Amino acid sequence: MTEWSQLSDAYGSAEGVPALLDRFEADPPGVWSELMDRLCPQLDTAFSASFAALPRLVEIAAGREPAERHWVLFAAGPIVASARRSVDGTTVREVYSSQLADLARLTDQCLRLPWDTEDYLSLLQTALAFEDVEVWDEHLDSLWQGEYEIECPHCAVSLFVVISEDECFSCSDDYALREVEKTRLRPADPVGLRGLAERLHGRALADGRPMVARRLLYLFGEAACTDCGTVLSVADRVVANAMPDR
Ligand SMILES: [Zn+2]
Repeated sequence: MTEWSQLSDAYGSAEGVPALLDRFEADPPGVWSELMDRLCPQLDTAFSASFAALPRLVEIAAGREPAERHWVLFAAGPIVASARRSVDGTTVREVYSSQLADLARLTDQCLRLPWDTEDYLSLLQTALAFEDVEVWDEHLDSLWQGEYEIECPHCAVSLFVVISEDECFSCSDDYALREVEKTRLRPADPVGLRGLAERLHGRALADGRPMVARRLLYLFGEAACTDCGTVLSVADRVVANAMPDR
């Protein structure tokens, strides 16, 4: 039996969490924000009660058809991705290994459905959370807006990388505010993809997502710094930006 009063959430004592999970089960889209305010505020901070809620979230997700479980997965994903920043979260992968395997399977079943691109990318990102793929389990969905901010490893200038249907470029000034010098991105060759890039690209194609697959080629491709000309890997710089200590 979970002693919720001994656990904490963003508001303090987690006593109210079981009742909140009951309401979430009845209306996932309507209660999702309230649930995340308590269990994963800003979608980047989790608490002891957040992890204790995972078995219940698995039950709720498993009780719904794939087309209706995305809000439950969107609750569990950020909690799991945030675990590595939480003292209480360091043992989550061992303690909840079977639940994480269930969540991965439940997400996998969803990915083939005809979501809009934004939800599809969020689900793909959520799948990465359950697989423990750090950085991309919190930053892959930026591919929907198609903008990443990175730093040139040579001259340290901040660069915007824009990946859209119209154009794919990098620049060092705010392109939304003024005309700026842009350099075109160089997409990766699909044949040369390895590891995560190969897996995500193949998955997007298998799921019937050519637009996502194309954007992934730019994300895992190269950009040139507009200030010093250094050619850099966009994905490597996104990782470096997210984990400056590495
Ligand atoms: Zn540079």
